[in-house]
Amino acid sequence: MSMIPHCPSGCSQRQNVRMVVRFGHFYRSSDRRKIQRFKCTHCGRHFSQASFSKSFGQNKRHLNHKIFLLLVSGVSQRRIARLLKCHLTTVSRKLSFLGERARWLNHCHRLSRPKVSEVQFDDLETFEHTKLKPLSVTLMVEKGSRQILAFEVARMPANGLLARKSFKKYGYRKDERADSRNRLFRRIKPVVHDKVHIESDQNPLYLPLVRNFFPDSNYQAFKGQRGAVTGQGELKKIGFDPLFSLNHTCAMLRANINRLFRKTWCTTKKIQPLIDHLEIYVLYHNKVILRGVPRKRCLKL
Ligand SMILES: [Zn+2]
Repeated sequence: MSMIPHCPSGCSQRQNVRMVVRFGHFYRSSDRRKIQRFKCTHCGRHFSQASFSKSFGQNKRHLNHKIFLLLVSGVSQRRIARLLKCHLTTVSRKLSFLGERARWLNHCHRLSRPKVSEVQFDDLETFEHTKLKPLSVTLMVEKGSRQILAFEVARMPANGLLARKSFKKYGYRKDERADSRNRLFRRIKPVVHDKVHIESDQNPLYLPLVRNFFPDSNYQAFKGQRGAVTGQGELKKIGFDPLFSLNHTCAMLRANINRLFRKTWCTTKKIQPLIDHLEIYVLYHNKVILRGVPRKRCLKL
């Protein structure tokens, strides 16, 4: 029967599938579904239909999609826990589970698309725990389609008035931005054309970076503009914004990821959950918002 899977230990992979036999069933308590069990007569291992599921071992699997949608809709983790009547720990575990899932799906999505010929990139600033510990998110988007191609998060030292205070309180803070931009460029190398057209803000560090990774590219830097007074600093006051695709995407991140809201009291406490949250948003942004994939299908759970 086609419904009988192979033994997950891999022992019967090359042998007859009949080595695996049905072995009763059980009712899963988390969603009351009847789950078929199996036994491998070769190695004696027991397993079930659920052993192959992406959400194997989860007690709150029914919350995966709901939490996914709320996380990309500007709802805080605490409020999600309250709305869904579950524990905050459940929400934070889902954030890391969904983040890992999204990272893989984003990776596949990137490689499955035709090579990109026009991109824009820039840094978006946020912080971990306090403004004295700033973080920089470098974001690369495709011009026109606004597909997010990649992002990287880096620690950076505080500047301006906060620099001295930050040093006094937390000591030396390494600037990881150069490494993180290198990682970003290495990651997008396989998905863009060699003769890609690259646009960004004017930053003296960007040109050598671009020349190093894409010697045949066409690079154009635009003078930075002041942000609009009201609302998002990413949407510019002047009529035509040459970096519209990028700035619009940054504004969407700020509007939909709670911890990136301006003047929010939800902040990032650690870097990894921020990365997970961004991966989850990128998946939703690229697939559901921009391409209209049904949201139930987007996680492929
Ligand atoms: Zn086996």
